[in-house]
Amino acid sequence: MSYLVLARKWRPQAFGDVTGQEHVVRTLANAIAQGRLAHAFLLCGPRGVGKTTTARLLARALNCESGPTAQPCGTCVPCREIVAGSSVDVVEIDGASNNGVDSVRELREAARYLPQRDRHKVFIIDEVHMLSVAAFNALLKTLEEPPPHVKFIFATTDPQKLPETILSRVQRHNFRRVPAAKMVGRLRGICDEEGITISDRSLGLIARQADGGMRDALSLLDQLLSSVGMEIDDASAEEALGLVDRTVVHAVADALLDRDGKRMVELLAGVYERGIEAKRLCEELALQLRDLVYVKAVGSAPADRGDAEEQALREQAAKADPEHLARLFDRVHGSIRELSFAAQPRLALEVALLSAVHMAPAQSLAAVAARLEAVAAGLAGNAPSQSAQAVGTRQAARPPAAARSQGAPSAASAAPVPPASPAPPAARQPTPHAPSRQPMGRPSSPPVPEDDLIGQVEALARARAAPRQAGGRAPGRGAPAGGSDDEGEGGSSGPFAAWDEPSPPPFAPGPERAFRGDEPPPFAGAELQRAPAFRGNETPFPPDFPEIPSRIFAPEASPGGCATNECGEPAGMDDPSLGIRERWRRALEWLRGKDSMACTFLSEGRLAWLREGEVAVGYSREQAFFRSQLESPASRSAVEELLATYFGRPTRLRLQDAAEDAGSSVAEEDRRSRDDRARRLRSEAREHPSVLAALSVFGGEIDGIDVLEER
Ligand SMILES: [Zn+2]
Repeated sequence: MSYLVLARKWRPQAFGDVTGQEHVVRTLANAIAQGRLAHAFLLCGPRGVGKTTTARLLARALNCESGPTAQPCGTCVPCREIVAGSSVDVVEIDGASNNGVDSVRELREAARYLPQRDRHKVFIIDEVHMLSVAAFNALLKTLEEPPPHVKFIFATTDPQKLPETILSRVQRHNFRRVPAAKMVGRLRGICDEEGITISDRSLGLIARQADGGMRDALSLLDQLLSSVGMEIDDASAEEALGLVDRTVVHAVADALLDRDGKRMVELLAGVYERGIEAKRLCEELALQLRDLVYVKAVGSAPADRGDAEEQALREQAAKADPEHLARLFDRVHGSIRELSFAAQPRLALEVALLSAVHMAPAQSLAAVAARLEAVAAGLAGNAPSQSAQAVGTRQAARPPAAARSQGAPSAASAAPVPPASPAPPAARQPTPHAPSRQPMGRPSSPPVPEDDLIGQVEALARARAAPRQAGGRAPGRGAPAGGSDDEGEGGSSGPFAAWDEPSPPPFAPGPERAFRGDEPPPFAGAELQRAPAFRGNETPFPPDFPEIPSRIFAPEASPGGCATNECGEPAGMDDPSLGIRERWRRALEWLRGKDSMACTFLSEGRLAWLREGEVAVGYSREQAFFRSQLESPASRSAVEELLATYFGRPTRLRLQDAAEDAGSSVAEEDRRSRDDRARRLRSEAREHPSVLAALSVFGGEIDGIDVLEER
């Protein structure tokens, strides 16, 4: 006898056998029992979950000799013929291959005749969404007024592709993916009947791979039987199913949670040696992380995991908090898609997992909120006198700095409390250097564990604050002596008192030209970006630019102009006592306000010389664009007019090739100092105690630093 695949051999023979679709079969059985059957049914759901099987069961229920009944006998002629697919009154049509209007016309024709032998003429159309529009229209008429002996049963995986007119005329039943636990139960029953030896764990693997499709699960079981035989052990099951060993996945997840990059690399190397696909491993790892999140949220493992696996999951889940697990899942899950497109999936997975290893720990919002509340409570408890004292202390300790810090906001806010006046009793209690009863409050407190980043930062801040406060308050501070015994909130004497330290102003603008972080990176200098929109094919200066007034070149002839300063008007803004380069820089500064584009083009060139009545600027070959923008007679004369105004005498502009040793252009110098400054600001920001504390409290990492400054 030929081998019958399990999926066919174990096809449900009664409504009760349909696994995982109890909601559908119950409704249908009730309708049959009550004689209230619709004339058209639509069975929707994923493939392989029992739609066609249910359609045939329904046909049998309708046409069984002892029916209509919810329990067709399965032995009468109609029942047997329907199972065999040879019943004349039950017509099965594949919508995919008979999707034309002609097929539907034939069907309509057939529907007009009474059933030859049985109670009903049943039309089962599989994949009904494949019918053409014309076919649907042809079907519609029959669906509207079907003869009483006709029943339609449609099955589809894509109900949304059906026209509304069809949907509104059928009774719809939605099939679900078969839950893994039910699938394992059904598989177990079949294996026991068939005499197959297999563990629940392997059945779980099959169920997971089948993704809710019972038919797929049975096909996989068939596949296992043919490759392994009747006695299936877990390892062969994994290998035959192309699955990644769970223990490997577990170990990789362990390395992730333990932040063990070295072990991660070793594990991945082992995985590749065994020929496991990168994407496959990533999928399995995502599944593992999902299970861990599940365990955290629900308290137990997903139903398809065995007891041993559940225990392992629980232990692993205990290593991380839910937020961190969720972030890891996001990272790993996102990688699955990326790996599909990666040219080197192995490298992509390696880097993705290693970066996940070093991902900053996420703190739970509750923990962060609690920490912030504690800090806020500490501040509220003794902030007024504390900050006044701290500022006063510093002022006393460093007399030269006092005047400077007087203007600082922190000093201003503290001003209402004169340092010499006695503080109110309540406020005088906390003193900065007093021994604290809070474990975290004193510099000499026990060492903070390495993994407590917040504690470490707080300790660091305390250590920094302590010597300053202890040494600083002594001279002439007049702090109440009795207060030192009774410090209520010791924690506040630590970090935040130290951080409003006014002396290092890391973000204050420096002397050089300010740089705004939101500007595009310097290509032609930030000035180009600020200039009015300029399109390359336009002449920057209109051709009809006004002629240079003659007085510039002939001052003596002009009543209003005077280049010699004899009339008392300042001849120009140039200061000949300065160095050449500085003079040119100032001239450009001035020019920027008059003609920012011309200024940009001139700034890019290298100053060759600046002498009375002539400026020469050199351009390299790469800078031909800038030079060309100044070379037209109109633009040159416009610039010369401005230069004449600035230097107080007619000034010729010479544009020439740059000499080898011409030095830097003004624009280059500006860019360099801007870059230096931005780099310095970034590193200062990175190390600023407030930033460190914020990173620690929120468990974050620095994504990027923008240098923002007002100009
Ligand atoms: Zn029967």
